[in-house]
Amino acid sequence: MSTLSPSPAAGAAVAPDELPRGADLLHDPLHNRGTGFSAAERQAFGLRGLLPARVLSLEDQIDRILENLRKKPTDLEKYVYLNDLVDRNETLFYRILIDNLDELMPIVYTPTVGQGCQQYGHIFRRPRGLYISSEDAGHIADLLDNWPAEDVRVIVVTDGERILGLGDLGANGMGIPVGKLSLYTACAGIPPAMTLPIMLDVGTENAAFLADRLYIGMPHPRLKGEAYDAFIEEFMAAVTARWPQVLVQFEDFANHHAFALLQRYRDRYRVFNDDIQGTAAVTLAGLLAALRLIAAEGGPARGLSEQRLLFLGAGEAGVGIADLVVSAMMEEGLSAEEARGRCWFVDSHGLVVRSRADLAAHKLPYAHEHPPVADFLAAVEEVRPTAIIGVSGQPRTFTREVIERMGRYNERPIIFALSNPTSKSECTAEEAYTYTGGRAIFASGSPFPSVKLYGKTYNPGQGNNSYIFPGVGLGVVVSGAGHVTDEMFEAAARTLAAQVTADDMANGRIYPTLSRIREVSAAIATAVAGIAYQHGLATEPRPDDLPGYVRAFMYNPTYDPLV
Ligand code: NAD
Repeated sequence: MSTLSPSPAAGAAVAPDELPRGADLLHDPLHNRGTGFSAAERQAFGLRGLLPARVLSLEDQIDRILENLRKKPTDLEKYVYLNDLVDRNETLFYRILIDNLDELMPIVYTPTVGQGCQQYGHIFRRPRGLYISSEDAGHIADLLDNWPAEDVRVIVVTDGERILGLGDLGANGMGIPVGKLSLYTACAGIPPAMTLPIMLDVGTENAAFLADRLYIGMPHPRLKGEAYDAFIEEFMAAVTARWPQVLVQFEDFANHHAFALLQRYRDRYRVFNDDIQGTAAVTLAGLLAALRLIAAEGGPARGLSEQRLLFLGAGEAGVGIADLVVSAMMEEGLSAEEARGRCWFVDSHGLVVRSRADLAAHKLPYAHEHPPVADFLAAVEEVRPTAIIGVSGQPRTFTREVIERMGRYNERPIIFALSNPTSKSECTAEEAYTYTGGRAIFASGSPFPSVKLYGKTYNPGQGNNSYIFPGVGLGVVVSGAGHVTDEMFEAAARTLAAQVTADDMANGRIYPTLSRIREVSAAIATAVAGIAYQHGLATEPRPDDLPGYVRAFMYNPTYDPLV
């Protein structure tokens, strides 16, 4: 987050004569280099005497940070340490994050960010992002004016009601937009000054937080009904008036709001919901890559439209995935009805069937004509799925029996246990491989380590939304697309699946390695921007060399000499 705004086409570059001087420069995290300022820069910016004499290179500073970070005894302490670093020196933070994503993504994002949010009031150091509370209703535009950056392009906003699989964390949920935007920057090079995390603090029903005097949010029950809707309406109008080019990503809203907000705003503003659409794209990519892998092994080259999917959990993630799978199946020639008939759901009351009277609107398209079935194992026996997808937030629900049945019905059963954090996963990687004799194609929401079994190493996939949303965001920013469409997410999924290399597949991987994430995000951004241009949604002129333009736009943290 910045005190200065960058010029869009040049990443975060700011003319040296616009930079603050002296102590102000050391306290500006976007431009501070600490001991990394050269002698000439110290002279030019009035820093002499404010720093110890020895000039360190970026590489030296990286080594120092990693040495300290790796000594921290817990992941939560690493999270706090990295938050302190980004408050001091964003260039150093992003260089380290980009170069060590495998190690650090689980710290800055799930699973550790979940603990971070649970403890937010207790580990709080400095504010990050913008907090808008229900008491600010009627004055939201004034608060937005307090934000110093003029060219915000990506906002991640939450009301904290359903943080990961952890429930209502109220204003403590701010850790999620903060973490997510750091991934926009690390994975897709959105300049940090163009990002803004926002917490809509409308209260909480979390009794422990309401009783905790260190809780950072408004200690009252949640705003509801018309007052809530009016608050969001004012917010949407105000942010787009202040930053007309901004993309607003809805994050971790409870599902009784998430679907409605997306429906209400998707044709009016530049918005998407990552829990619904980002999850859908990363999972569709995983399914497509799994089918590629099966075909590459010489197995039956069956298309997506020949799969039968059974979901455990019919919320934002599940229904979002099914909707996108349906549109991808339709592209392969199925009718909408045929495609929906290949997607089945089990929720907390059993199989989602037509005769049930308790179904929320978003489940109705998937309520099939079938006698009621009470539990998941019985549903597996009835539906005989080729893939099971866990998005229930309920741990250990893919039991040994369920996994064994999947192994009995399928040569290569697809088992995606996507609930976060790790403690909520429907099964572990080890269970999936062990109970199928090593035949499962497994992916999870939070990372699992490789599993050694039968003298082989199995590499579980992580259906990590970070493969998708940064690239989609970059594509929207670069093209200035006025809306974010389902076609863009489908293109993102197909691009991601196509990025899985023969080498990845030979190692059982259905997602590319994280070390290639920037390359992958650039490819996704190019595909998404391409759709914006093709469908007349773009507001920026089309560059002659779109892939080259996308790559050049990406923020790359370095210490280019300032003088
Ligand atoms: P949600 O609250 O919208 O939906 C949860 C659903 O699970 C609801 O339909 C609920 O009825 C159902 N459910 C609850 N208990 C159940 C039970 N015992 N048996 C069957 N169904 C049950 O939440 P969501 O946004 O859909 O997220 C669900 C989970 O998916 C979370 O744990 C989240 O972390 C995870 N998720 C993972 C990814 C990813 O891996 N990329 C992305 C998004 C969400």
